Amino acid sequence: MFTREESFVASFGIVVVAIVVVLMGVTSWWIVRSQQELMVSSRLDQVRQVAGLMSQSAEALMISDNLSPLRRLIVENSQKYELQVCRVVLPDGTIVADADPSRIATTPLPANWSGGEGITASEDHGAGRVAVRRPLAVAGRGEAVLEIVADVNGISFWDAWETLAGIGAIGSLAMVAMLLIYRRTRSRLRALGAIREALLMYKGEHTPAEFLKVSPDFGIEAQAWNEFLNETEKLRDQHKRDEVNDRLDSRQRGTRGLDDACDTMPYGLILVGKEIRVQYANGAAAAFVQADRQAMMGSPLDQFMTQTEVLDAVKTAATGTSRRRAVIVDEIETDSGYTVLRYIVRPVRRTDPGDAMVIIEDITQQRVAEKTRNEFVAQVAHELRTPLSNIRLYAESLLEDGDDTTLRAKAINVINIETKRLARLVSDMLSVAEIEAGSMKLSADDVQLGDIFHELQADYEQQADEKNIDLSFNLPPKVPVIHADRDKFLMALHNLVSNALKYTANDGRVSVELQVQPNQIVVEVADTGYGISEEDQQKIFERFYRARDERLASIPGTGLGLSLAREIVRLHGGDITLDSQVGQGSTFTLSLPHHVEAA
Ligand code: ADP
Repeated sequence: MFTREESFVASFGIVVVAIVVVLMGVTSWWIVRSQQELMVSSRLDQVRQVAGLMSQSAEALMISDNLSPLRRLIVENSQKYELQVCRVVLPDGTIVADADPSRIATTPLPANWSGGEGITASEDHGAGRVAVRRPLAVAGRGEAVLEIVADVNGISFWDAWETLAGIGAIGSLAMVAMLLIYRRTRSRLRALGAIREALLMYKGEHTPAEFLKVSPDFGIEAQAWNEFLNETEKLRDQHKRDEVNDRLDSRQRGTRGLDDACDTMPYGLILVGKEIRVQYANGAAAAFVQADRQAMMGSPLDQFMTQTEVLDAVKTAATGTSRRRAVIVDEIETDSGYTVLRYIVRPVRRTDPGDAMVIIEDITQQRVAEKTRNEFVAQVAHELRTPLSNIRLYAESLLEDGDDTTLRAKAINVINIETKRLARLVSDMLSVAEIEAGSMKLSADDVQLGDIFHELQADYEQQADEKNIDLSFNLPPKVPVIHADRDKFLMALHNLVSNALKYTANDGRVSVELQVQPNQIVVEVADTGYGISEEDQQKIFERFYRARDERLASIPGTGLGLSLAREIVRLHGGDITLDSQVGQGSTFTLSLPHHVEAA
């Protein structure tokens, strides 16, 4: 049996051979037929010529009454031209001359005869023969007829064997040549046949290339075809990949904005699927649980989260057991203190449970602020209570024993000092509120610095005496007038001086020195107090901050004074700096630009 490809080649060969054979047959038939027609036509011409020449000669011989040469002429030409009938006949049927002498009816010609008028030349064809009649006019005696009958069959089909043999030889040579060509082109034909078969089996773009491939043994055409299929397959794959990538790209483009937005959120966001596996986590969530974001995707949540309360809430939400949100607050100890995280867990959909969402929020700052605020309230209450208690105590003493002049003088002095302290405290708090709201305004005026320092000295002398602190004010001989907001500037100085006295132990020293420099005035408030650690030096200017120093724990304060003093000085274009050593003391340096000085 032929293989698939060979059957094509075989059928192709059979068709070609059949065409060649038919062509040979048609050619042979046409050539033989042409030959026959040519022979018939030339035979007719020959018979006509012979009839014409013989009729002329016969007329002349009959006029001269010379019958013997006439009869010889008839016999010779009849043999020479293979005539079936050749004779001269009178109108009454008397044969004057004939190829067969035995048929001659008369030896001499009659003197005359009748019945020959109107004889015309004629030519009858039929059954492979031609009958030619020619009138012979014998002057004065009448007319006779020359009758010739000859075969005009030409040659038979087989008589043309030379021609046929020639054609056969040419055909055979052609076939041999074709066989040789076939043998040489057989591999190509097999490749083409195989490719043709493959094409017939092609059922659209989903036909696998492997199905259409042909044996590479069929030659370079087959290999080229397979290569073509490979390339087509690659292009199709590439096209599919491009399509998928385009779809992914467009989908990602669609959600990229959302992803980016989620990543910029300070909140951690985790989406959890049915099996409590992470479906999505934003950057903040990965940071909160200290895991790699990519590693989180698709992994069980409990690989990254240990808080059982949160995990339980997630399970409850994801399984649809509860539709309500759960809030869990977790405080974690860290190297730098503590971190407070708030987890909000809720189902994603109200119906069709399966996904839960965890939002993680760092509320450490809020906690610290709350704590500070509470401490502040407690401190303020304490700060208010102390002067109020003193005022109340001395006011009651005055009411009971107002006539005692010594007591009265002391009471009035204490009430005066404590009232001022209260007023400063309230003023500090109001100023902080103003600064916080950004509404603090300076009402600048000419300020006599000399007056300010005298006022300060008067206010703090007694306090210094109580602690046996050496409080000194060193002013230059010429104290300038500056352009500033008097009350606020005084408030800043009050805070520095009161701190120096507050944070210096008994028997210490506090000095306030004013320096007038070319471009600025400088006030140095130095004490020999407890000093401030380097770590706290960075923070004591922050609002509500109080140094974490056990020695100072019992000293009341709000943590507002320094921040307020610095804000005020900065609003004037100056600054406050600090130089301090624990156990040695502190020096706060307040500087104001020179241009604020009055002329
Ligand atoms: P407070 O009302 O607590 O004094 P301040 O803002 O005035 O608030 O001061 C902040 C903190 O700075 C104080 O609690 C104290 O610990 C520290 N401090 C301020 N001045 C001095 C100083 N002269 N010597 C030592 N510590 C000081």
